[in-house]
Parts: sequence; structure tokens; C-alpha cells
Amino acid sequence: MKEIKSDKIGKLPGRKLEAGDTFFFRCHPDIACFNLCCRNLNLFLYPYDVIRLKNHLGISSDQFLEEYTDAVLREGSWFPEVLLRMAENKEKTCPFLTDTGCSVYPDRPDSCRSFPVEHGLFFNEKGQSETLSFYRPPDFCLGQHEDQELTPESWRADQEAQRYHQMTVRWAEIRSLFQKNPWGTEGPQGPKAKMAFMAVYNIDSFRDFVFNSSFLKRYKIKKDLQKKFRRKDEQLLQLSFEWIAFYLWGIRPRLFRMS
Ligand code: SF4
Ligand code: SF4
Repeated sequence: MKEIKSDKIGKLPGRKLEAGDTFFFRCHPDIACFNLCCRNLNLFLYPYDVIRLKNHLGISSDQFLEEYTDAVLREGSWFPEVLLRMAENKEKTCPFLTDTGCSVYPDRPDSCRSFPVEHGLFFNEKGQSETLSFYRPPDFCLGQHEDQELTPESWRADQEAQRYHQMTVRWAEIRSLFQKNPWGTEGPQGPKAKMAFMAVYNIDSFRDFVFNSSFLKRYKIKKDLQKKFRRKDEQLLQLSFEWIAFYLWGIRPRLFRMS
């Protein structure tokens, strides 16, 4: 989910969906274009996507990042992002695509759930974030000619994407800070950047860092929260977001305080 500046809103492709606007869409295994959309993609994974996928596959964050992704630095951002690596076949299919469909369906990424709607983050005059939605089915997607009428909200509920959306928005708010260089002369390959990338995308290593380094001597975290962070990747990711915001930008945290 990228940040959208006010001067770009009217110029973006697709139909902007206002509150209450509807669109037509339905996807099902009998449709002639079944699976056509799962190939040759620039599929960016958000931190919550990585957690869901590596847990679905039963592998570590390290292994997942190594086997399935590439880190890229996009223009206009000082924070590397994670791109799902397509298979090395003629059609460059998604590594999770099978003849019968998506093999990670219950834990498929946020962008797959939202499709054919894409979201962007807009900051209003008060600095509050708003999600903007655009209906953008590609021409080959026949689902747009089906008769199911939806709103962005009903589509999100249908795809069980609410939690994904909350986590993606939270991350997009922090990522928007990286339009400025927080690394100084170290640059985005330096030790500070590596720590931040680890905290956001490699939740297993971040857990190790929190519980097996001097982290808990430097920062105070309530015992009941510590228990949650030990057990649940999703809860720990929220600590990671707050820690990044504090570590790099000095933004006051809620989940911990300085010792
Ligand atoms: S192209 Fe559209 S309708 Fe076809 S499988 Fe993909 S999402 Fe469904
Ligand atoms: S994760 Fe699943 S839904 Fe998403 S592109 Fe891959 S196969 Fe398709």
C-alpha cells in the first residue's frame, strides 16, 4: 500500500471508490480466466503477509525470506521492501500456484485478497491517514462481468481481509516516514537499516533479539505483554513497528518504555 499525494489522486488508473460506491466482481474455479492473474506479478509482501505465509509453510522467517523473496528499494523510499519471487518458468507463475488454485489460500497475501481493488494511503490536512480504494481489474479478468455487486467493505469481509488491512495500514503509516533518509551516512545497507529490516520482516530473529539480548534491560515491557510477544508473531509485530518508530524517529511508544 503506497502513500498517495493529493495532486496524484485524480490521475491514478482505475475507478476511485467513494464510501458506498459499488462494483461488480466474482471469482470462481469455473471461470475461463481461472489462475491467469497469479503469474508474472510484482507482488509486494507486507510484514503481516510474511508471518502468515511462513507459518502456513511451517518454516522460519529466515528460510521464507531466502527461498521466496527478494528485497528491493523502491524509488522515493529509504526502506527496502519484500517482493515475492516468481517461479523460474516461462509464465513466471506465483510459487504458490497449483493446477487447482492457490496452495496457500487461507494465508494468501493482502494484495491477493484485495484484488481487483487496490488501496493507497492518503494523509489529510490533520495528518490522519485515510485508505483510498481503486477498482482496477485488468482486461483479462472476467470476474468484472459477473453479477455480484460489492462495496470495498463487503469485499474485504468476504475475503476475510480485515486483520490484514489493519496491519497493512499500520505498517504503511510507519513506512511513509521513510521518505526521509533515517540512516545518515550509513545508507540503506548499513547496520541500522539491517536491524530495522530484521525487526519488520524477520519476526523469528526479532523475537530472539527481544528475549536474548539486552533489549529487556534497555526497555521495560509489562510481564503479560512479554508473554504475548513470546507466543504470538502478530503481537510481536506490533512491538516491532513501535520499536522502529521509536528507534529511528523517536516516536513515543505505548507497548514499552525506557528503563
Ligand atoms: S483473472 Fe479475475 S476472475 Fe480470473 S481467476 Fe483471476 S481474479 Fe478470478
Ligand atoms: S499467493 Fe495465491 S492468490 Fe496470490 S498470486 Fe500466489 S497463487 Fe495467486
